[in-house]
Amino acid sequence: MREVEAEDFGCEGCGSQMRYSPARMELLCEYCGNSSPIERRIDRESEELQKALARSHWESIEGVQRSVHCPGCGASRKLEAFVVAGECEYCSSPLVTEFCNPEKPGTILPFKISRAEAHEIFANWIGSLWFAPTRLKVLVDKYESLTGYYLPFHLFSADTLTLYKGERGDAYYENEVVARVVNGREESSVRKVRKIRWSPVNGMVSRKFRDLPIAADDTIPMALIERIEPWDSSSTRESDKRYLSGFYATEYNRALSQSHKFALEKMRRRIEYDVRRDIGGDEQRVFDMDIHYKEERYRYTLFPVWSASFRYGGKEYRYLINGFNGRVSGERPYSYIKIATAILVVFSILAVIAYWDNIKEIFIP
Ligand SMILES: [Zn+2]
Ligand SMILES: [Zn+2]
Repeated sequence: MREVEAEDFGCEGCGSQMRYSPARMELLCEYCGNSSPIERRIDRESEELQKALARSHWESIEGVQRSVHCPGCGASRKLEAFVVAGECEYCSSPLVTEFCNPEKPGTILPFKISRAEAHEIFANWIGSLWFAPTRLKVLVDKYESLTGYYLPFHLFSADTLTLYKGERGDAYYENEVVARVVNGREESSVRKVRKIRWSPVNGMVSRKFRDLPIAADDTIPMALIERIEPWDSSSTRESDKRYLSGFYATEYNRALSQSHKFALEKMRRRIEYDVRRDIGGDEQRVFDMDIHYKEERYRYTLFPVWSASFRYGGKEYRYLINGFNGRVSGERPYSYIKIATAILVVFSILAVIAYWDNIKEIFIP
């Protein structure tokens, strides 16, 4: 186990460790109220993707466990692999240490949503959910252990030009004669049938992608993290460890080439959507997309996330809040009793409507 030192954010007034305050966007001492500003340096620096991919160290990402000395109480604490910031379990002083991976984050989006705001956002979200168990709503009101994480992201930019081949489908209606037997007599009626006329098309679409985010920590489900997008990547600042004080932070545990594959997949989905719009008509078939990439760039940054998990009915649920703009995404339990009641109510209404229709037929000629 490697021994490392933690950063010392000692307060000039009282000596205790200062933390980054999202509300004030500076370091703040919780004990004496002393504050220390962080210079606001916007940074969006990226580099050529191919150059970055060519660096050989991506293939050997090894997590290193370290033991770190707390600057608050002097105790030694173990840090799990890929964790670069956390908290002392004895005196809860912030622990911020070095990045171990060969690539360091060049930029960071500092927290803007405070813990109190995050808690309020979550309580409102749970309160607004249909079919959430009532007991859960009570549980969350008392729930206070939100954790603030800085998560590693690989951001990809590219200008794309796509040549496509496909078919455009236009709907038209044909009359069809249907025969049926009513009260022993054969009757025929005409009904309209929807049909599609396909015609071949080809064309070209272009789209610029800027800072397409791919979470580079694969311990959090990607679908969950994508739901708290968008990230305001134009507000990132020059990386500075002071923003990490009082928060958890991890570094990437996935190779850039792997993140790039996810990015290409995400771009492709977006481009196919553009192609379908370009084709127009009522339906579309896309047979081939020849995508050309230019100006491919990449950067490595940290984004802020409030996170918590709770157990309900023997299952673990997770929720995330975008630490910059407050967007929420969460896995949620459903109350089956509430759902069953709602279904019953809907069926009763339908039954009443059907009954009324019958009555009308009988009494209103
Ligand atoms: Zn102080
Ligand atoms: Zn300590």
